[in-house]
Amino acid sequence: MQNNDEKQIMSEYWRRQGRQLLAIAVSLFLVILMAVVYKRSDLFGDYSGNTLISAQLVVIISFIAFTALNWRCPACKKYLGSSIKQPVCRHCRTRLR
Ligand SMILES: [Zn+2]
Repeated sequence: MQNNDEKQIMSEYWRRQGRQLLAIAVSLFLVILMAVVYKRSDLFGDYSGNTLISAQLVVIISFIAFTALNWRCPACKKYLGSSIKQPVCRHCRTRLR
């Protein structure tokens, strides 16, 4: 038997995991895109390497900031760690999925 709290925590965890996967996909896409733009200046025009490196840093820092806010246990609000699939929270032992 699941009570409502558990269901809520699991669906909140599910939403957070979805946002996290989306953020990983978008960040990877942008970083790779900028690397491609840098390598193929013949196709995309000549951006200076510094501009692209700064843009990549912005993407990476935004991703880390987003992860720090989003990737938290729905029950105890502590950071969930580097794995995207957590069966239980390692801080409060709440079942997450
Ligand atoms: Zn927790």
